[in-house]
Amino acid sequence: MDHNKWHQMSVNELLAELDVHAESGLQEEEVTLRREQAGHNELSEGKTVSPIALFLNQFKDFMVLVLAGATLVSGLLGEYLDAVTIIAIILINGILGFVQEFRAERSLRVLKQLSAPSAKVIRNGKFEQISAKELVPGDIVLLESGDRIPADVRWLETNSCYTEESALTGESVPVNKHCGAIAGDDLPLGDRRNIGFMGTMVTRGTGKALVTRTGMNTEMGKIAHLIQSTEEMETPLQHRLEQLGKILIGVALALTVMVVVAGILHGQPALGMFLAGVSLAVAAIPEGLPAIVTIALALGVQRMIKRKAIVRKLPSVETLGCASVICSDKTGTLTQNKMTVTKLWIGGSHMDVSGEGYEPVGHVTAAGRPVELKQEQGLRRFVQISALCNNAILEEQQDTPSAKGMRGAKRSIVADPSSTWAVKGDPTEGALLVLAAKLGMTSSNLKGIYNRTQEIPFDSDRKRMSVIVDHQGGRLLYTKGAPDVLMERCSYVLWEGKVVPFTHTLKQRAIAANAEMAKQALRVLGVAYRELKPNEDLQDEQIENQLIFVGLGGLIDPPRKEVREAIHKCRRAGIKTVMITGDHQLTAEAIAGQLGIVPRGGMSVSGVQLSQWTDEELDKVVDQIYVYARVSPEHKLRIVKALQRKGHVVAMTGDGVNDAPAIKAADIGIAMGITGTDVSKEASSLILSDDNFATIVAAIEEGRGIYENIRKFIRYLLASNVGEILVMFFAMMAGLPLPLIPIQILWVNLVTDGLPAMALGVDQAEKDLMEQRPRAAKENIFGRRLGWKIISRGFLIGICTLAAFWLTLKADNSSQQLVHAQSVAFATLVMAQLIHVFDCRSSRSIFHRNLLQNKYLVLAVLSSVVLLLAVLYVEALQPIFKTVPLSLRDWAITLIMAGIPTFLLGFGSIISGRKSSFKRNRAQQRSIRKVV
Ligand code: ATP
Repeated sequence: MDHNKWHQMSVNELLAELDVHAESGLQEEEVTLRREQAGHNELSEGKTVSPIALFLNQFKDFMVLVLAGATLVSGLLGEYLDAVTIIAIILINGILGFVQEFRAERSLRVLKQLSAPSAKVIRNGKFEQISAKELVPGDIVLLESGDRIPADVRWLETNSCYTEESALTGESVPVNKHCGAIAGDDLPLGDRRNIGFMGTMVTRGTGKALVTRTGMNTEMGKIAHLIQSTEEMETPLQHRLEQLGKILIGVALALTVMVVVAGILHGQPALGMFLAGVSLAVAAIPEGLPAIVTIALALGVQRMIKRKAIVRKLPSVETLGCASVICSDKTGTLTQNKMTVTKLWIGGSHMDVSGEGYEPVGHVTAAGRPVELKQEQGLRRFVQISALCNNAILEEQQDTPSAKGMRGAKRSIVADPSSTWAVKGDPTEGALLVLAAKLGMTSSNLKGIYNRTQEIPFDSDRKRMSVIVDHQGGRLLYTKGAPDVLMERCSYVLWEGKVVPFTHTLKQRAIAANAEMAKQALRVLGVAYRELKPNEDLQDEQIENQLIFVGLGGLIDPPRKEVREAIHKCRRAGIKTVMITGDHQLTAEAIAGQLGIVPRGGMSVSGVQLSQWTDEELDKVVDQIYVYARVSPEHKLRIVKALQRKGHVVAMTGDGVNDAPAIKAADIGIAMGITGTDVSKEASSLILSDDNFATIVAAIEEGRGIYENIRKFIRYLLASNVGEILVMFFAMMAGLPLPLIPIQILWVNLVTDGLPAMALGVDQAEKDLMEQRPRAAKENIFGRRLGWKIISRGFLIGICTLAAFWLTLKADNSSQQLVHAQSVAFATLVMAQLIHVFDCRSSRSIFHRNLLQNKYLVLAVLSSVVLLLAVLYVEALQPIFKTVPLSLRDWAITLIMAGIPTFLLGFGSIISGRKSSFKRNRAQQRSIRKVV
């Protein structure tokens, strides 16, 4: 049907046109039929690199082409065997590179899919959460503040619903949507106020809509080629390494030229030297580095997924390791978000509510005596408002549901595994429904008597929610929200069954009751109401004033069990944890106390106090503040900026639409997988699929581990390359013959660049990884003496290989003299690197780690040793690699020389470590003596 017609039709015409019922939605069979016609609701992907192109890319490298050319020349000159082998090695290298890059690409694609959007639909008369891809025209979708609209829709119902459509219309101010028909054939998109466009965001309110078009038929689909997502997928480190790679190419080439020139000057044959030079250049250029970095990142990111952290932007993996402050929401992240009303304060009397979880079984008692709904007018009103000013659904489940895959704070399923009762929606509201049900009041038995007509949805800025209810010809406004916010709007109070003025004394009693509950770590909600005059409606600014206060409800939300330990771990790792919450300051302080967030001397402040401070005043105290309570989302941005001004790398969580700016501004923006809105998720760089604080800490640990692993294989690869170049360079300078022939150089490169380096990329972290302070954000990858380690180990590997070569050359007078010495040099170089690879696992020395812990590395090294033995001892391979079998004496030289670089420096570091710890102890003793 012509898309120009959707906005012109009435709701009933639309439903008839798309043959669907607004309450029950489509039936499953119909969905299948329509999907066959319309296809999946997806925008077609942008261009992807084909595997063949990726494979061919491996051979584009200039030096590889030169090597291939030079090999061809030597082939033409009769060195067939050499030429074939070198080409084979180039091919194997290319295949390895291809596999590495292909894996990296695939992992990145999987990551993108993980953050794919979902949609809330009504199908077969039931509410379901499905992947947005599954939507078909005719589906009925539910949308709320923070959702990304999953297809082109026509609004059927709206409650103060605004959408942000700038991506499509250029209009930056959110547009108020309605559901009436609009006349006019060729209306610009911006004027189609009853249409919701795929990809635009609901910034306020809620609504129900009918899917009219999906996938490439949507307005977004028409411009899909312009907006192909350009998510940042290269990290700063990768970028820097690419630049470094260019410098290293220059250095390697310069040294190679020197080697070649020196060789020729000392009488080596020019063609042989040229080929050796080109092989050396190919070997010394760390072309595998970027791919291994990507793999280390991608595999690390997959490990994070297993630990429930989904990385949306790859660069954040690096930043994670630098995080020095985590600002965390309280509800659901530090606590379980399993709310239960346990206390009430109504009309001056305190009441207790029994029962656990979401099962609607329990009693209300006052001073130990049961309270009946019939006798207590205040309680009746309280429960009525709780049940009607509420969007949650309390359901008995057939089988134990799981929270997995559900999202949307207002409609997520939070299941209590011990019971078959579950709440769909906001757990706070769910708890109120459970309270009402405990007293026999459910939405179904209120229906028909009290009819809800309009709603002002809850949001964290307003901290309250209101609905209009029609009752016996009159209209009532029912409101619930944060007690302090609500009390300001109340002029009367329901006291002992009567409506009386809310005097200062009565208000003080209510404030004291609120504080008492909050101190017990309860989340407190106030409830109020009033009768509306006929002309009042929700657009009226003053409608939530002059209310009658009914009472307070206290909800427990226990802390998550694993969080206390996670916070402790953070402290040891030099990371500060800050709680930011919309809840009351006393509630926040009580929970912070239970979790051990605030150290001695730490402060807690409220949003009101925060608003009064200037930025300079905030900067002075920001380091001492551990709890921010009753804050609004915009406060979060100020907190992030203040911490950043103090030099911190800030991780900040958030779930609502208004949290997005702070999430974006933070160094690591973290969104909630279960309760988070699409807007917050899209602003984030990390999503917690279990909403759990402990997951952030796990992600930081992984982030640190990944960075250290990258340093490990950079150290290994570069030290190996330095060794390879230097052995040739020193030999040429000393006027010695070539210690390694081209094939051997290429072979060493293959063995080192390949499996062992990759195995280092997935190495286990050192035990004290989370005992160290976060690394500085500006730290150079070669910082903390890595550059020195590369040069010193590389230098020693070069010298020791040359020594092994020279010793053998001197001791052998046979005609095989040179081949023999070259074989020993070859074996020494390979073994030196294979020993050094274990050294790279530790920031101290080889003696600090269990050698067999990394099984991949052990396997990689063993297979490299077997290959080396094959090259030395298999007769068929000897002529190709120009080797002879090594004797026991040769092996003794080889292993001693190969071990020196690692063991010499290892012992050195132990001795210097002892000396410095001895000095530290002496200094400590001296200072203790001074104190005494
Ligand atoms: P945190 O940032 O720790 O997650 P929060 O998000 O729970 O805190 P808000 O949701 O902004 O904080 O809630 C602030 C206050 O608003 C609560 O203390 C409560 O009194 C009130 N409140 C929470 N949910 C609702 C709701 N659905 N309806 C009305 N009032 C609510």
